[in-house]
Amino acid sequence: MMIIVLKKSATVKTIAGVVKHIEDLGLKPHISEGEEKTIVGVVGDERKLDREKFLQIEGVEEAIPILKPYKLASREFRPDPTLVGVNGSRIGNGTVVVMAGPCAVESYEQVLEAAESAKASGAKILRGGAFKPRTSPYAFQGLGRAGLEILARVREKVGLPIVTECLSQDDVSIVSEYADIIQVGARNMQNYSMLEKIGRQSRPVLLKRGMMSTIEELLMSAEYILSNGNYNVILCERGIRTFERITRNTCDIAAVPLLKSLTHLPVIVDPSHATGERHLVQPVSLAAVAAGADGLIVEIHPNPDKALCDGHQSLNLEQFSQLMSQVRTVAAAVGKAV
Ligand code: PEP
Ligand code: MN
Repeated sequence: MMIIVLKKSATVKTIAGVVKHIEDLGLKPHISEGEEKTIVGVVGDERKLDREKFLQIEGVEEAIPILKPYKLASREFRPDPTLVGVNGSRIGNGTVVVMAGPCAVESYEQVLEAAESAKASGAKILRGGAFKPRTSPYAFQGLGRAGLEILARVREKVGLPIVTECLSQDDVSIVSEYADIIQVGARNMQNYSMLEKIGRQSRPVLLKRGMMSTIEELLMSAEYILSNGNYNVILCERGIRTFERITRNTCDIAAVPLLKSLTHLPVIVDPSHATGERHLVQPVSLAAVAAGADGLIVEIHPNPDKALCDGHQSLNLEQFSQLMSQVRTVAAAVGKAV
C-alpha cells in the first residue's frame, strides 16, 4: 500500500481527479480526510504502485509506501483519531465512554434492572450477550434471538444503545439488525470470513483482542474490517493468556498507549474478562483510564451470585455506581470527562 498525500490546496475536484486516476490504474483508493490534509491510501498489485507515476498526478504532494503490515488501521494513513459515533456518544474524542451490563442476557427483568441502574450511574452503552461463546458445550449458551429481542425492548425503555456479540458469520445480519455496536469476541478475533462480512455492513464494531493474539494480529484483524469498507472499529484489550493462573487473564495495560500510538482507532479496556476477579475490576479500570483508554466495558449484574455466566467477575449495581465515581476522578486527573 502507498499513501498519497494531497496538497493542502487540493479542491474537491482535484481529489476526485486523483481518485479517478487511481481507479483507472486498476487500484483501490481509500480516502482519509484529515483536518490538515487529505490522504488517499492505494491498495492493489505492488507492480502498479509506482511512486513516480503518482507524483505526476495533479494535486499530489507526496507518495509514501506504508511498510507496516496493517495499512488502513495505521496512524500513517489517518493521523487524526477516528471517532466512532453511537447515538449521542463519540468514542475516541477524548472522553471516557463506559459500557456496562450483564455478561449474558438472562431475562427482560434482569437486563432492565441492570440497564436502568447503569444509566443512572453514568454508563452510556448497554452490554449483554445473547449469543454466548462458552468453553463447555453443556454451559448456558445464551438466549439467542430471544436475547436480542430483550435487548431491543430494554433499549426502547431505557434509551441506551446496545453492544452485543456476533458469534458466527451466519448471524451477522440478524445481530446487525438489533445491535448498535457488533461485538467480535476474543475467540473470533481471527474468524476472517466473519470479519469480512462485518466489514461489509455499516454498524460500528467492538473488536476484542484474542486471548493469544499479539498487538499486530489485533491490528491485522481490524484491517480486515476496514478494508471491507467499515471504519467504525473500536479495539478492546480484554487480557491475554500468560503463565499466570491466579487471574483468568493478564491485563496488558501497556497495550492501550501502544495501540494508540500505532492506530487511529479508539481503544477501550474490559477489566472484567481481563482479570476474572470482581475485586480487581476497579483498580484495573482506573489504570486503564489513566493509561489513556477511550472507554471501558464492564460486566455488572443485579445479583452476581445468581448470574448464569461470569458472576464471579461481575460487579453488583452498587459497586458499579462506586466505580463510576472513581472513574470520573481519574478521568478528570488526565483531563477527560466521562
Ligand atoms: C464477552 O464480552 O461477553 C466475552 C465473551 O468476552 P471475550 O470475548 O473477551 O472473552
Ligand atoms: Mn463474560
